[in-house]
Amino acid sequence: MYATPHALATVALTVAAPVTYIVLRFVSAPYGRHVRDGWGPSMPTRWAWVVMESPSAWFFALWFMVTLNNPGPVGIVFLFLWMWHYVYRAFVFPFRLRLKPGARMPVLIAGLAFVFNLLNSFVNAPVASGAVRPYDPSWFLDPRFGIGVALFLAGISVNRQADRILLNLRKPGETGYKIPHGGLYGWVSCPNYLGELMQWTGWAVATWSVEGLAFAVYTAANLVPRALDNHAWYRQTFPAYPPERRAVIPFLL
Ligand code: NDP
Repeated sequence: MYATPHALATVALTVAAPVTYIVLRFVSAPYGRHVRDGWGPSMPTRWAWVVMESPSAWFFALWFMVTLNNPGPVGIVFLFLWMWHYVYRAFVFPFRLRLKPGARMPVLIAGLAFVFNLLNSFVNAPVASGAVRPYDPSWFLDPRFGIGVALFLAGISVNRQADRILLNLRKPGETGYKIPHGGLYGWVSCPNYLGELMQWTGWAVATWSVEGLAFAVYTAANLVPRALDNHAWYRQTFPAYPPERRAVIPFLL
């Protein structure tokens, strides 16, 4: 059977999701509040974020150009939505973190995320560039485009608001943890992750692609176990933690 590198990469991304989910249900990824010794060499956390997330900006842009196939205005909108998220995540967010002095992340975690972002960009950039299938401008009028983009926009605003609330919890010089309030924190412990799930589900719907679906499923496989760990951590750490809060999906999970 003939398989293109792109099809193989999409299969790899799809297979990575259940593997990641199973591993993360048993082992919390050792960064942030779950950081611990025994994971090999480490690097400064701020720079780890830049290194690991930046392929989704520079490599996505490069691969978009290389695979360019008359993307038209729809592809340009997809490129804009992707970059809006990843330029912020790779080059703005890391410099807003209020970290403990000397905070570090295992190179293993940053390396795995770096490889994942290369793979995911390799899979999803050709969707935006029109190489997987060209989008006619009439796609703007398709309900899948409208619903998907609306979900993406709602997700990015939930994610940014949640990030902002978290990053403002620590006053300059503080390093500890507090109970976050405001926005969707009234409902869930990790609205930042909920926002990401909404964004990439929206991407999958707006592009109506298996590549987008593979990324959305992977995001859930990565972030749902993390949200469950964070939620359990909050409940253990703060006896007065609001009992009605769920981990990541309001009223459900
Ligand atoms: P966290 O919520 O664990 O932490 C974000 C920042 O806020 C960290 O600097 C953390 O400090 C600080 N913080 C968190 N909780 C508190 C608290 N209760 N009190 C004070 N400070 C707090 O998020 P992640 O680091 O896991 O993720 C950051 C962003 O990246 C999120 O928006 C997430 O959605 C996104 N992301 C996306 C992924 C994807 O698959 N698409 C994968 C991973 C992240 P400290 O570092 O000291 O813990």
